[in-house]
Amino acid sequence: MLLIDGKKTSEEIKSEIGASVAQIKEKGGKSPHLAAILVGNDGASQTYVGAKVKACEQVGFESTLVRLEETVTEEELLKVVEGINQNDEIDGLIVQLPLPKHISVEKVTNKIKPEKDVDGFTPANVGRMTLGWPAYVAATPYGIVELLKRYNIDTAGKHCVVIGRSHIVGSPMSILMARNEYPGNCTVTLTHSRTQNLSEITKTADILIVAIGKPEFVTADMVKEGATVIDVGIHRIADASKKSGFKLIGDVKFDEVAAKVAAITPVPGGVGPMTIASLLYNTLLAAEGKVYSK
Ligand code: NAP
Repeated sequence: MLLIDGKKTSEEIKSEIGASVAQIKEKGGKSPHLAAILVGNDGASQTYVGAKVKACEQVGFESTLVRLEETVTEEELLKVVEGINQNDEIDGLIVQLPLPKHISVEKVTNKIKPEKDVDGFTPANVGRMTLGWPAYVAATPYGIVELLKRYNIDTAGKHCVVIGRSHIVGSPMSILMARNEYPGNCTVTLTHSRTQNLSEITKTADILIVAIGKPEFVTADMVKEGATVIDVGIHRIADASKKSGFKLIGDVKFDEVAAKVAAITPVPGGVGPMTIASLLYNTLLAAEGKVYSK
């Protein structure tokens, strides 16, 4: 069984990005600059944003964290986004989700200038990705594509089953795996909560990508021998034996599935670290004007 190591691969990508930053600076250019907006005090969101800022430092990027109160109005938030859109010093902008209920995610996403949308969430970038045009691809699906590529996983003509159709993971993943390029050229089945006989479908998957958000949902009897399994899920489970008081598990029952398949991503250390590496990569592309010419 091949363990697809996202932690190691993400470190490789970060060192490649760090080398590109050094080259840009040698030529007298400025460091890529990522801005993140965090609204409120949600613990998980603070952890995710903190990790993104730390990763920026690691590769030599500038970063700006804008923290806003939970009570900020939609109008005020839109103004902050517009200010960053207009700021030529900033290359990439992310707004950490979820937002408080009184703020429309659609309005805020749509306000982000597509040229700075390094999360790849705006309609412009989703459309460009779907058309196969240069685009900022959402970080989690992009990280998965990169893992498949760096581990030389054969995809052409294979049956790829995706569990989950969210806008940030499952849906873009299904589009990327069907594209006429490597990794891609799969026959793709996108499944969701209304799918019938799910395990009959997953058992036919050569590549199974699981983004359902249910701890250890996928068991050994749901997978084909020799398949490649990508586990996107992240769940904190109480564990008194850990210093932190919890452990992380995925959407796949790792031990029993790993014993049956050819390749699998672990949780933690699989897709998670790749998501941050992809965000950094998109920010580098933004600074270099490689998606939308500057
Ligand atoms: P989400 O928005 O909650 O979507 C879950 C999807 O699973 C939905 O499309 C839902 O179908 C489908 N589903 C629910 N029950 C099902 C069932 N019984 N059979 C088949 N499909 C079913 O989740 P998400 O944002 O994509 O995230 C999924 C997981 O990945 C979560 O654990 C999340 O924490 C994790 N995640 C990790 C990263 C990372 O960096 N590693 C990034 C993003 C997310 P309907 O559409 O019909 O409701």
